[in-house]
Amino acid sequence: MSKIYDVIILGAGPAGLTAGIYAGRSRLSVLLLEKGKDGGQIAITDEIENYPGAMVEGESGPSLIARMSAQAQKFGVERAGDVIKSVDLTGSVKTLTGVKGTYQARTVILATGAFPTPIGCENEGKFVGKGISFCATCDAAFFEDFEVYVVGGGDSAVEEAMYLTKFARKVTIIHRRDMLRAAKSIQEKAFANPKIHFLWDSVVQSVDGDGLLSRMVVKNVKTGALTTIEADEEDGLFGLFGFIGYRPNSALFEGAVEMDRGYIITDADMRTNVPGVFAAGDIRVKSLRQVVTATADGAIAATAAERYLSQ
Ligand code: NAP
Repeated sequence: MSKIYDVIILGAGPAGLTAGIYAGRSRLSVLLLEKGKDGGQIAITDEIENYPGAMVEGESGPSLIARMSAQAQKFGVERAGDVIKSVDLTGSVKTLTGVKGTYQARTVILATGAFPTPIGCENEGKFVGKGISFCATCDAAFFEDFEVYVVGGGDSAVEEAMYLTKFARKVTIIHRRDMLRAAKSIQEKAFANPKIHFLWDSVVQSVDGDGLLSRMVVKNVKTGALTTIEADEEDGLFGLFGFIGYRPNSALFEGAVEMDRGYIITDADMRTNVPGVFAAGDIRVKSLRQVVTATADGAIAATAAERYLSQ
């Protein structure tokens, strides 16, 4: 019979690691399960500027995460690397079954996060964090006075494009149709913004550059015409932001907890509709998905789990 933990945390991003720190510090027995590298989305973020206190010289997503991981370890959090394939969250003991083993606990914190829908162009992976970004709040400041392109036509793309105009000298929205999906009120503001330009009926086909993003090929979906866009010679790079939706990492929990469009519904204490099951971070329904809100969720979830266990 495997050990029954007080808490199993699924996902070692900022939410899961913080939940580990809080639960471990409360002297609960904690297992933190992660299938890959710690950090989730910020593991691919070069610079962290907006997490309070992250003013350490050379701070990056991975360096901040490394300190969070060490802190969780300091409080006795056990770790396992496994890909969970099925979960049974019913009953007083929850069971998670992975490729390597079966894990049991009286409470579970789901912190598997979400990931931005990729732009879908050739070479995209090579330039994420090197010109391609999926977070204007995180990365806009790096493009102060540069040219920036935004892919998408929904509320997020248009609102983030407007935010980017505070930094970039020119922002071009690349949209696959000839009209925006965004709300009319948001569209009106964008059309009135002299820094915002549009490339209609277009998709990014490929990206390239010498280390940093400096060239891309855009395809007109109506005519099939290909246009190469190059960075201004003095700039040497441009920014490309993708806002074509997010995908929650929640397929595993379908039917097990209540969701809204794939995001887990919680109350203010991170409780799902299933007793003993909590969710924290980007996986849950919320209005701002940032490291600071993920860590806050993790702290609340662990505290709520402790309260549940003591009842
Ligand atoms: P969204 O509304 O689903 O819009 C996604 C946009 O990306 C659409 O314009 C879509 O084009 C485009 N797109 C999708 N897949 C694409 C692909 N493979 N290649 C190129 N373009 C692609 O997503 P969102 O803007 O992230 O918004 C998500 C939800 O949050 C929405 O309900 C939105 O109203 C809400 N939201 C609200 C606010 C606000 O109220 N202030 C702010 C942000 C988000 P098509 O139009 O051609 O389908």
